[in-house]
Amino acid sequence: MSTPAPATPYRGRFAPSPTGDLHAGSLLAAFGSWLLARHAGGEWLVRMEDVDAPREVPGAARRQLAALAAFGLHPDRTVVFQSQRGALYQAALDRLLASGQAFVCHCSRAALGATRGIHRTCVATAPRADPAVRLRVPDTAVIAFDDAIQGPQRQDVAREVGDFVLRRADDCWAYQLAVVVDDAEQGITDVVRGADLLDSTPRQILLQQALGLPRPRYAHLPLVLDAHGRKLSKSDAAHPVDPADPLPALRGAWAALGQPPHALSAAADVPTMLAAARTHFDPRRIPAGAATKVAAMQHQNFTTRG
Ligand SMILES: [Zn+2]
Repeated sequence: MSTPAPATPYRGRFAPSPTGDLHAGSLLAAFGSWLLARHAGGEWLVRMEDVDAPREVPGAARRQLAALAAFGLHPDRTVVFQSQRGALYQAALDRLLASGQAFVCHCSRAALGATRGIHRTCVATAPRADPAVRLRVPDTAVIAFDDAIQGPQRQDVAREVGDFVLRRADDCWAYQLAVVVDDAEQGITDVVRGADLLDSTPRQILLQQALGLPRPRYAHLPLVLDAHGRKLSKSDAAHPVDPADPLPALRGAWAALGQPPHALSAAADVPTMLAAARTHFDPRRIPAGAATKVAAMQHQNFTTRG
């Protein structure tokens, strides 16, 4: 795989899945990653993570990109689509298979029930027509990293996750493999995303090590909760943000990032608001655990929760 050196010391990205319209949580990730990239004088890319065909909503990718444009968040390079990058993922998988770090697995979900779905050794008694490919996770695979917002993290991947899937039984590329290959191939130096992906990070670091790829820096933004205090899933389309009325949603995301609301109060259009945001943004104010209720964000009543 060719891994071009980044043209700048900082290259971030926003990588949504087209499983619905842009919602408050994804806008927070988009705006937060954009602000951190701009603050560092770096580049900001957008990648459409459309490898999970069964969960994809027709038209969602186009609507998400249109929404980003309406919010004034324009990527510095051409948007890439994971659905067009299968050859890159196949090459990485072939390397892992050839080195014995990945293996074909015929185990069914039911057969792994006794170990709560955690795979450490194959238990299949018969081959299946649609086997998966998994990463062979060493017993000693304990991954530690320092998240720029959430602080020191540690996961015993062997015990807590087990041998994880790289190529799914339904013939889709697994999220973990596609993300790791793309972040390296695109020269991403800084991964900024929602804290719901914090526990995926050790798997991605393990895959980077297996493939000999550089480890980017990580910053996981606070989660956004819905009106009932539950976290929004990536596929939750219940609270889409309104691209036709971008200022309230940008103000809500700004407040959820721990930034002072008054800094944006005078801005009456998107370019003015983004310029003010760039001037007043301070990454040290981003809270680790707080989250803003979506309902509150929509009414510009910025209630943050510890
Ligand atoms: Zn197996």
